[in-house]
Amino acid sequence: MDSPEKQKKYLKTIYQNTVYIDRLIDDLFLFSKLDLQKLDFHFELVQTKAFMNDLMEEFKFELEERQYRFVYEDNLEADCLINIDRKRLHQAFRNIIGNAVKYGGSRDLVITVCLREQEDFIAVTVEDNGPGISEEKLPYIFDRFYRIDAERTKDLMSTGLGLAIAKELVQAHRGRISAASKERAGTCFTISLPICPARG
Ligand code: ATP
Ligand code: MG
Repeated sequence: MDSPEKQKKYLKTIYQNTVYIDRLIDDLFLFSKLDLQKLDFHFELVQTKAFMNDLMEEFKFELEERQYRFVYEDNLEADCLINIDRKRLHQAFRNIIGNAVKYGGSRDLVITVCLREQEDFIAVTVEDNGPGISEEKLPYIFDRFYRIDAERTKDLMSTGLGLAIAKELVQAHRGRISAASKERAGTCFTISLPICPARG
């Protein structure tokens, strides 16, 4: 290396690629365990309102620190029980909210999360006002390794497994996940989880 600047530049590249590979291994490991149904889940019955409030408060704190707007609306009329693995569900929401920030990350970004009831399910929508996803690409976003802009996402340290993992995690809860989007308007993800009949 003929200059300290060059050395610094190369070391930075090596470092970034190492972080990337490390993340890729973690994601691949998690995904393959999920795919093979070999991942241990610790299910417990929790009250929906308290769980969601705590979780969303955490995201709100994190995002507002980074100057993004985050709104949480609890439109659930009556509280109910859901059978979940808190950590795994947290991960699914983190992947979706993380995308909203990563792809919509301008100063005007607003993320709105809304909780409501839909027949025998709770439905949580995560909406952003980011760039949106085109109609022809939308059906593939939950596919493993699918990234819309592979060149751009390389800089953003993406593995293309975030939504595939979120989908597996939600399905392991007997839930559903879907996305709707409009280009230049935003994207809305919906996670639905079955409500557990109250005991007693
Ligand atoms: P990773 O999550 O593993 O870091 P990733 O973000 O590229 O990588 P996914 O989370 O699976 O992968 O998302 C797949 C693709 O869907 C992304 O590359 C992006 O192009 C698109 N996408 C996902 N969420 C949004 C969003 N909220 N707004 C716009 N595009 C999105
Ligand atoms: Mg992602």
